[in-house]
Amino acid sequence: MQKEMKFGTKAIHAGLEPDPATGAIMTPIYQTSTYVQEGVGNHKGYEYSRTLNPTRHALEKNLAAIENGKFGACFGSGLAAMDCVIKMLNPGDEVISTNDLYGGSYRIFTTIFEKYGIKFHFVPMHNTKAIEEKINANTKLIWVETPTNPMMNIIDIKAVAAIAKKNNVLLAVDNTFATPYLQNPLDLGADIVMHSVTKYLGGHSDVVMGALIVNDEKLATEIYRIQNSSGAVCGPQDAFLVLRGIKTLHLRVQRHCENGKKIAEFLNTHPKVDKVYWPGLLTHPNHAIAKAQMRDFGGMVSFTLKGNKLEDALNVVKKVEIFALAESLGGVESLIGHPATMTHAAIPKEKREQTGVVDSLIRLSVGVEDVDDLLADLTNALN
Ligand SMILES: *Cc1c(COP(=O)(O)O)cnc(C)c1O
Repeated sequence: MQKEMKFGTKAIHAGLEPDPATGAIMTPIYQTSTYVQEGVGNHKGYEYSRTLNPTRHALEKNLAAIENGKFGACFGSGLAAMDCVIKMLNPGDEVISTNDLYGGSYRIFTTIFEKYGIKFHFVPMHNTKAIEEKINANTKLIWVETPTNPMMNIIDIKAVAAIAKKNNVLLAVDNTFATPYLQNPLDLGADIVMHSVTKYLGGHSDVVMGALIVNDEKLATEIYRIQNSSGAVCGPQDAFLVLRGIKTLHLRVQRHCENGKKIAEFLNTHPKVDKVYWPGLLTHPNHAIAKAQMRDFGGMVSFTLKGNKLEDALNVVKKVEIFALAESLGGVESLIGHPATMTHAAIPKEKREQTGVVDSLIRLSVGVEDVDDLLADLTNALN
């Protein structure tokens, strides 16, 4: 792949070639577990589909290219990809993570890996001093998520990368919300990029998948060793669906951003709305960093209602007709969620309110429908 190739071209072509057997332009779904060998050890690069499958392999190469990385690895879910990263660590190692974190990420860290002797610290990372205070000789990994869910906080990847380099610590960035079209953490100094492919990369709410992308060959070898040894791989049918999804990633995300902007601006002047959280707003506390490290600001928008009443928020999520009430994000269709009773219900009220998840907070995954219909839908529901 030529380095100069632009994003839209890479999304459609990188890692892909016509099927060598038939010339099929679309990568076939190689629905096979094993591969016939001509003699012992004499094969075409594929021995067993946990280790490598041609459809998955094509997707891994494509993902690496669109993240400006050298190596990609796909997993059965975003959390399975995270599981692989933490399995590179040893008992006694410590991890410093964003405190405003995807709930499932918090759960895998604290309920799965803490008992294996890995220690996790959760700090507010827009204050980089908070990271440096926690770093010690046992620190092996810094875990960043930006923008965060659902508060849309932005963390300065370059600044955190400088701290990681200085202390010889790996930096991993969960790039799910931004997508490779808007933000490339490897270019900003990260060592590992993680995606919940389930979201924007798949883009059509029909696949659960995760991915890791790296530049360093040693790191890649370790990731492939764990991917093969733990076996949390994705199937070829899902790899095909995601390859198809990525072909329109740049077009979809452009529209997600345009619609997100119009909706954030509409909410920002609506008399019933209190606060709007969208990094593209000049009033967003980390707007300048978002502008520096992202190409645009995405389609995730959160907001609160004046008076902060639970029943008002529940009314809005009930009254919308085009926005569907559902968890997840990043699909072509618009979704609406109520974090306090849905994704963050397990967190005690006081604790969730400290991070901004108040009773009236509503989160939108703005889709790529006609924005006038989305605005009319919200106008109706808010009135
Ligand atoms: C959904 C999500 C995950 C987990 O991914 P799954 O594919 O659901 O396992 C991790 N991080 C973020 C930011 C997410 O939105």
